Amino acid sequence: MVEIKNLNFEELQNFVQSLGFENYRAKQIAQWIYKKRVKSFDEMTNISKAARKVLSENAKIDVLKLVKVEKSMDGTKKYLFELEDGNRVESVFIPEKDWNTLCVSTQVGCPVGCKFCLTAKDGFTRNLTAAEIVDQYIHVQRDVGEDKRISNVVFMGMGEPFLNFENVKKAVEIMTDKNMLDLSTRKITISTVGVVPGIDRMAKEMNKVKLAISLHATTDEVREKIVPLNRKYPISEIMAALRRYPADNIRRIMIEYVMLEGVNDSVEDAKRLVKLVKGIPVKVNLIPFNSYPGAPFKPSSKEQTEKFQKVLWDHNIAAFIRDSRGQDISAACGMLRTKEKCNRC
Ligand code: SF4
Repeated sequence: MVEIKNLNFEELQNFVQSLGFENYRAKQIAQWIYKKRVKSFDEMTNISKAARKVLSENAKIDVLKLVKVEKSMDGTKKYLFELEDGNRVESVFIPEKDWNTLCVSTQVGCPVGCKFCLTAKDGFTRNLTAAEIVDQYIHVQRDVGEDKRISNVVFMGMGEPFLNFENVKKAVEIMTDKNMLDLSTRKITISTVGVVPGIDRMAKEMNKVKLAISLHATTDEVREKIVPLNRKYPISEIMAALRRYPADNIRRIMIEYVMLEGVNDSVEDAKRLVKLVKGIPVKVNLIPFNSYPGAPFKPSSKEQTEKFQKVLWDHNIAAFIRDSRGQDISAACGMLRTKEKCNRC
């Protein structure tokens, strides 16, 4: 049984041909799945009954089951999905005034083990398929409705995208193909914790989409305590990869920096960050830490975050303090999944 959302458009054409159908059927099927977001082949009314029967015998459309939705007062919605093997992943819908963003997961759990991350606590189970990544978009778009089109996708949910490069790349192809989800490449951001071979590969194979680096510290000593993968890819190697990366002022690299009180939020840290990114076209996002029960860190104060931001602006580095969205629901990444697991026991 073929999972049809695992196929990019060329593969969909080959699949359709392999079933003995004309080539134009691929476009029709893609429109039903990605534009009308149908759940079954039976809904594809411009395709003959006999052809629909063949399709449903050989392929399936949905691979996720929506288990739970939490809605925040600020409009943020958090989704919990069950995969066919019973594993669960989360996605987050974040509405803004002029656009809507979806944060997708790329793995069940995560092998990276960042110390501030709740997802890391459960360890790693497996990579998501391209279909399981794309299906997060389809399910959420169905739920929020046509008037809230998801224009932006960030690969910042559960998992490290570059440890699942092939499937992430395929999902991006499906999201940006004009016959499929037809999103702008500039509206897609892939966030890595600093997997250097992945950054170099993205530079060659996916450099039209945006790159974000979860840096979170300015010395190896501190970063190793927060992001253990730093032992394999230290800050100097990450910065060297960013200097090789084909970024410019239009496609600036985003530096993600979670503000942890007394750990990485000093003025000295801000000054070191200025030196690290010198000459690289970047934009810095200062992220308030979303705490959770038993978290080993505290969020930095607003005053300290603003001091940090000022140092960056004083050196002409664009730095923004991100809103902490969905505070009245399970805001931290992995929190809804963990909570539901506890509720199930
Ligand atoms: S922050 Fe991201 S990379 Fe780090 S453990 Fe959590 S999901 Fe993995």
